[in-house]
Amino acid sequence: MYKGDSHVHSRFSADSKEKLENIFEKAVELGLDEITITDHMDFADREEDDLFVFDIDEYVKTLNTYKQKYKDKLIIKIGVEVGIQPHLYKRYEPVLKANCWDFIIGSSHSVDHMDVGYNDIYLKYKTKNEVHRRYFETILENLDIYHDISVYGHLDFIRRYGGGVHSDHKIIDLELHKELIDKILKKLISKNIGIEINTSGIRYGVGDFHPCREILARYKELGGKIITIGSDAHRAEDIAKDFGEAKELLKSLGYKYFCTFTNRKLEFKEL
Ligand SMILES: [Zn+2]
Ligand SMILES: [Zn+2]
Repeated sequence: MYKGDSHVHSRFSADSKEKLENIFEKAVELGLDEITITDHMDFADREEDDLFVFDIDEYVKTLNTYKQKYKDKLIIKIGVEVGIQPHLYKRYEPVLKANCWDFIIGSSHSVDHMDVGYNDIYLKYKTKNEVHRRYFETILENLDIYHDISVYGHLDFIRRYGGGVHSDHKIIDLELHKELIDKILKKLISKNIGIEINTSGIRYGVGDFHPCREILARYKELGGKIITIGSDAHRAEDIAKDFGEAKELLKSLGYKYFCTFTNRKLEFKEL
C-alpha cells in the first residue's frame, strides 16, 4: 500500500523549528514512500508585516539537495501552503504561477484581515455561528479568485479556535451552514480543486479530522474524488499521525483512492 504524507512543515515555516533532516529520517523510519514539504507562505496586508514567508529559491535549492540525497529511500516533493485571502491575490499570483511546485495547498488562516488564531474575529462576529458563516463565505470568495491551488486545506479549521470567546466552537452547525458548505464543495469539484483530510484535528483535541466526517461524506456524495492525506506536522514526531484511522474513515465513507501530486498533476493511489 502506497504511503505518503502530503502536508508537513519544516524550519522554513515561521512556526516550526524542525530540521529537514529529521523529517526525512522519520519518514524513512515510518516506511513512507513519499513526503511533501508544504511550508507556510502567508502574506500580510503590508509587505513589511510579512512573518510567514520564506525565500523560495533557497527552499527549492535545499529541497532538491535532499531529493538527491534520499533518492533511493524516499520521494521528496516540493509543496507550499498559501494562506489566502481575497484581497491578497496580486501578492500571491507570482508564487502560484511559479513552476517549482509539485503541490499547492490553499488555506484560510485569516478572515477579513484577521488571523483566526487571535480573538479579534470572535469579538467582531458576535456568535460562533456568525464566525463560522463568515469563515465559509471567505472560502467561497477565495475560490472565485484563486484557481491555481491543488487542494483546499483543513476546510473547517475555524473549529480549532475561538474558545476564549465562544464556547462550543469545536462544533459546526452543519444544518445551519448546509447550503454554504454545499456551494463550497460543488465549486471545488467544478474547478478540479481537491480537499485534504488533515489529521491535526485529532492531535489538537478538536474531536475529528479537518474537515469533519460529515463534510467528508458530503464531498463524496456530491461526486468529489480528489482527496489528499496530510498530518500538518510541525514536528517530525507528528508525521503521518493517525493516518490509519483517517484511511479507515475514508474507506467507510466509500472512498477507494487518495491522491498525491507531482508537478501539480494528480495521481490516484489505492487506500
Ligand atoms: Zn494551515
Ligand atoms: Zn499546515
